[in-house]
Amino acid sequence: MARYIGPSCRLCRAEAKKLFLKGNRCKSDKCPVNKKRPAPGKNPKARTGKHSEYAIQLREKQRLKRSYCLLERQFRNTFEKALRMPGKTGENLFALLERRLDNLVYRLHFAVSRAQARQLVLHGHVTVNGKRVDVPSFTVKVGDSVAIHATSKKVNLVKDALQEVGRSGVMPWLTIDADQMTGSFASIPHRQDITDMADIREQLVVELYSK
Ligand code: SF4
Repeated sequence: MARYIGPSCRLCRAEAKKLFLKGNRCKSDKCPVNKKRPAPGKNPKARTGKHSEYAIQLREKQRLKRSYCLLERQFRNTFEKALRMPGKTGENLFALLERRLDNLVYRLHFAVSRAQARQLVLHGHVTVNGKRVDVPSFTVKVGDSVAIHATSKKVNLVKDALQEVGRSGVMPWLTIDADQMTGSFASIPHRQDITDMADIREQLVVELYSK
């Protein structure tokens, strides 16, 4: 599956918001968003006019898609799936994004970013219910256990990332045993519980794709 291989910080600068794509660097003073660097290709002195409704919806969609490190086709497919599910499409979309294996690996602090989590999955370091799974888009079900494979428990990158558990814990719909490098997906998250995405207006994404 194709993936974006350009500079991650460029994506944040385009949205003028932090998307937390680079782990610890995102929390440091080195983050270009902290330094208020202008959007790529944009003259900082250029006047910015009023944005159209379409432009606002598009930016919101790009922000959500890029936050979860997806390309357009993957994101659109996830949206179509959310549309077919009962209930609110925006909430379904978040539930599906949160159930991706690469996202779970990131949320359990086995990796410092979703890009790093994706690499861990692709390289076979992750198991679901005891079986190795190397598909980042794999959909995790409620009650599934996600763990670092026994032969990969010495990987320093995972050990370093897991230190974040002591600092910030895990999201309320997850449980973790950091010593055993294992966690589980306890329930489908409620929209209001996804606090790091609180400012994303998913309704704008639904409106954009409904045109
Ligand atoms: Fe780069 Fe992270 Fe800052 Fe985004 S939040 S600009 S990825 S350092």
